[in-house]
Amino acid sequence: MPITDAARFVAPFRVTSGAKFSLADYPTNWLGGHELTKDEGKALLDEGKVRLFDLQERLYAADSWSVLMILQAMDAAGKDSTIEHVMSGVNPQGCEVHSFKAPSAEELDHDFLWRTAKVMPQRGRIGIHNRSYYEEVLVVRVHPEFLGAQHLPANGPKPGSPKFWAERLEAIADHERHLARAGTKIMKFFLHVSKDEQKERQLERIDDPTKNWKFNARDVTERGFWKDYMGAYEEAIRATAADHAPWYVIPADKKWFMRLAVMQAIIAEMETLDLKFPVLSKEAKTKLAEARKALEAS
Ligand code: ATP
Ligand code: MG
Repeated sequence: MPITDAARFVAPFRVTSGAKFSLADYPTNWLGGHELTKDEGKALLDEGKVRLFDLQERLYAADSWSVLMILQAMDAAGKDSTIEHVMSGVNPQGCEVHSFKAPSAEELDHDFLWRTAKVMPQRGRIGIHNRSYYEEVLVVRVHPEFLGAQHLPANGPKPGSPKFWAERLEAIADHERHLARAGTKIMKFFLHVSKDEQKERQLERIDDPTKNWKFNARDVTERGFWKDYMGAYEEAIRATAADHAPWYVIPADKKWFMRLAVMQAIIAEMETLDLKFPVLSKEAKTKLAEARKALEAS
């Protein structure tokens, strides 16, 4: 079996056009389960790590593109463990993770794209955003009362109105188009977990003493808004899925499959960049040969 199998693990979850997108068409549990065992999946993930290490080295050497990976999900879907497993083979120098929680007073004093914009990955680097500006059209849309703290001027549509959300989504789509044009390879992941599976994982956080620290009573309250969140995700994906900024709606009920699918998507996206180690000019090669001679003679 090849290390990557885009037809099986990438294409079914890749969304590049919002026109016909419906979350209901995307499973939370991988439907091809009988074709691949958990152990085979893990072996493929390990092979993927080796491939990703190589791609990341080329990305760094080429120093031209940057990669932005956005992870969005309902609570306990596995954002943190996906980052841990998928990126564990990558050179830490070429990769940085940023997590975005409820905004600080300073962040609230700026436009909603500011805090993420100032930590976008440099050329040659992979930036992982654990939550992102999408929270502004997800949690804030589900709880429009949060807008009260955002110091919004009175020049636009009424905060919380349909036009207001449409403009926010438009701003995100414009921002991503700009980033893509400037050399950022964008990939956005929605780890799609079922409400039942989330319940199991939240119960585990209560029952397992080593996971107690992850439990947050607010997450149980947020379950009550499940439908609103799914509606907000659906609209966000519809408004911002594009070939230059695809969404991946990844089945997240089986963690091993979720990690494999995320890994395969990153590899497939990075391979489109055709990353090569820089080739030296004739003059640079001559200088290198001279340096070799000098080194040998020293
Ligand atoms: P885990 O999945 O492990 O619980 P987490 O990413 O949920 O990790 P938390 O500290 O539990 O981390 O939660 C961060 C909270 O911050 C989330 O509830 C998220 O919705 C909220 N948040 C993020 N961005 C914004 C924003 N712009 N406005 C309001 N709330 C936000
Ligand atoms: Mg949380």
